[in-house]
Amino acid sequence: MNFSELGLVPELLRAVAEKGYDTPTPIQAKAIPAVLSGRDVLAGAQTGTGKTAGFVLPLLQKLDSAQGRAPRALVLSPTRELTAQIAENARVYGRYKNLRTLVVFGGVSERPQIDGLRQGCDLLIATPGRLLDLVEQKACDLSAVRHLVLDEADRMLDMGFIHAIRRIIRLLPAERQNLMFSATYSDDIRDLAARMLRNPITVEVASRNTTAERVEQVAFKVPKEHKRHLLVHLFESGAAGEGSWHQALVFTRTKHGANRLAQQLEAAGIRAAAIHGNKSQAARVRALSDFKAGKIAALVATEVASRGLDIKELPQVVNYELPNVPEDYVHRIGRTARAGATGRAVSLVSADEAGLLRDIERTMRQTVPVLATPPFKIVESRPAATADAPARGEVNRPNASPGNRAGSTPRRAGHGGRPGSRSHHSGPSRRNRSAF
Ligand code: AMP
Repeated sequence: MNFSELGLVPELLRAVAEKGYDTPTPIQAKAIPAVLSGRDVLAGAQTGTGKTAGFVLPLLQKLDSAQGRAPRALVLSPTRELTAQIAENARVYGRYKNLRTLVVFGGVSERPQIDGLRQGCDLLIATPGRLLDLVEQKACDLSAVRHLVLDEADRMLDMGFIHAIRRIIRLLPAERQNLMFSATYSDDIRDLAARMLRNPITVEVASRNTTAERVEQVAFKVPKEHKRHLLVHLFESGAAGEGSWHQALVFTRTKHGANRLAQQLEAAGIRAAAIHGNKSQAARVRALSDFKAGKIAALVATEVASRGLDIKELPQVVNYELPNVPEDYVHRIGRTARAGATGRAVSLVSADEAGLLRDIERTMRQTVPVLATPPFKIVESRPAATADAPARGEVNRPNASPGNRAGSTPRRAGHGGRPGSRSHHSGPSRRNRSAF
């Protein structure tokens, strides 16, 4: 199967070929003809499957060429990053079409967005909150929308956007095509689909609530207070014989935890930055572009970053803390092994998270192998170390491990022997094991 068999026009085929795509991904092969047919579509697809092109390409075709001022297609997406990425894709795929794409999201000044809307656009990609703000200010007219896409619908509901979505839908003309993409199907999603879609074509590429098979998932049991030391060890030595890590996307549960871990990694000589909802848009963009450019080794993120981040060749994702919601695990690990690549997801599981791991395994109908925790070195710096270090001599048993010295590698800043550092070796001591 190639793209020309999907019914796409030459301008789009040319842009796709220049982007370097030879074959449509399974979701594209199914969704593109379905969207072109004009019917409503309910698509079950995780990020990394190529779903963005699955709706952007046929929408660009249906919009044909620039018309009027008010947008004719509206894509709602949960996060700024995803919104910006969809727009980037639309601009690349639409480069030989005379169409205007506009992006609207919060956290940045409204002014340029209002000016852009005044100048007119054909395709509007927006987060729900900012879009409603602009509608209320009469800066955005949704009366011409003929195509509505809810991307990552499950995420939008998790983030509490249901009321905003319902309000936006009430502002749209009744006569329109609706597309809904979701990686998971909860009752709420089914309910929203039943209200929003009329006689939809259902497109599914992976069985429900299962994880990309190409992601090699492993877990290490480790006391909470040792997680950061084990993480440093994984950067230095790898998780399962793959050698030192060049880069990893690391998930924490809280914004504060993300900031703190990024600082701790930096202190250990690993270039790191945090990305979460409290960071300014500029800081988020900078962290992401530094990560993409390979300037930082660890991008420490909260859940908000788990959707939509499109980072090429990301070999590992680390669950520094397991998410409370099993579906979030699926999204997090979907950040690796994208578009045919393979990847690894490593979870650091403390005793209090054992139940969360079981829930995740039940949801995925798959077990996550728990590997023997490798011996790792504990490097505490004074005085911060006293705050969260375990009682010394209790857990941090010296564990002769000559191959496990903290050393400098090109990606590390080489803080291994900082004055004031204390180092121990730790491994799966009897106490550590008994914690599980
Ligand atoms: P998405 O799931 O839409 O976020 O896409 C995931 C990644 O797959 C992105 O980096 C896309 O550029 C890439 N991609 C999308 N379609 C194809 C294709 N047909 N062939 C190769 N890569 C693709």
